[in-house]
Amino acid sequence: MSALDLHTVERVVVARTRADLAELGPDTAPLAGGTWLFSEPQDHLRALVDLTGLGWPDVEVSHDGLTVAATCPVAVLAGLELPAGWAARPLLAQCCAAFLAPPKVQRSATVGGNLCMAYPAGPMISLAAALDGSVCLWCPDGGERRLPVTEFVLGDTRTALRAGEVVRSLALPAAALAARTAFRKIALSPLGRSGAVVIGRRDADGFHLAVSAATVRPVVLRWPAPPGPDLLASAVDGIDPDLWHDDAHGAADWRRAVTGVLAREVVAELSGGTAA
Ligand SMILES: Cc1cc2nc3c(=O)[nH]c(=O)nc-3n(C[C@H](O)[C@H](O)[C@H](O)COP(=O)(O)OP(=O)(O)OC[C@H]3O[C@@H](n4cnc5c(N)ncnc54)[C@H](O)[C@@H]3O)c2cc1C
Repeated sequence: MSALDLHTVERVVVARTRADLAELGPDTAPLAGGTWLFSEPQDHLRALVDLTGLGWPDVEVSHDGLTVAATCPVAVLAGLELPAGWAARPLLAQCCAAFLAPPKVQRSATVGGNLCMAYPAGPMISLAAALDGSVCLWCPDGGERRLPVTEFVLGDTRTALRAGEVVRSLALPAAALAARTAFRKIALSPLGRSGAVVIGRRDADGFHLAVSAATVRPVVLRWPAPPGPDLLASAVDGIDPDLWHDDAHGAADWRRAVTGVLAREVVAELSGGTAA
């Protein structure tokens, strides 16, 4: 896989400073891991701007939480050592394992590229939605804006990215990372793309349930405490019917039904013990 395989692409600019991003435009796209960009024709493109040359550190740990560079490979997150007090740390590897691609793709694919693809089964979307993650966007005027991932991903392969913007980083807050989490995933076949991913989080603020892969954009349901079965069922039933994803990896009615089952399992797992 390389830019040489994209016959309309004449130039690849390795960005070294933010000023190099000024090249971005309708026929010039950001290049991250290239696992999707080089996997199909991009006839509208004449140039690529390689973000990996910007040298962003993959991750930064602080009292506020974890900041993940857009260019951080998904595989790096899977093996990350995090502070012991962050009870949610297994969730990183669980979400990375939901990325069912060959090892070569897994090693190259980046967190930012995964968010920007906005596939319903984007594992970094699942992770970010479950932990109240927000993306920092660099705007072409030199400014930046920040959006919760639930507002960044608008639908199947649709995001809130505006022309010339790039995702700089994903922020996962410490309060969410300190919480207990429970993860469930189902696919139509053992190595199939996720049909539904349901992640629960229990913290001092209450109980949070993130539904992804089953829906075209992530949905987060919240209660002050783990919900009982009726409350849970009506909340899942109350998800906008247009959001249930329907494709070769699962019909909409199946995704809706299995989401209900997985949600019950997640609530049961987190109902014992105390909030973090
Ligand atoms: C065999 C195979 C299996 C796959 N399985 C899955 C799967 O299970 N789930 C899934 O979600 N995807 C899957 N993909 C698609 C893709 O590999 C992933 O979404 C991957 O994470 C994309 O990341 P990347 O760094 O390679 O992005 P790239 O291919 O470099 O870029 C993807 C898109 O995002 C844009 N982009 C990248 N980074 C930024 C940024 N920082 N700011 C703005 N725009 C940016 C690019 O311009 C391009 O439009 C699969 C692909 C293959 C080939």
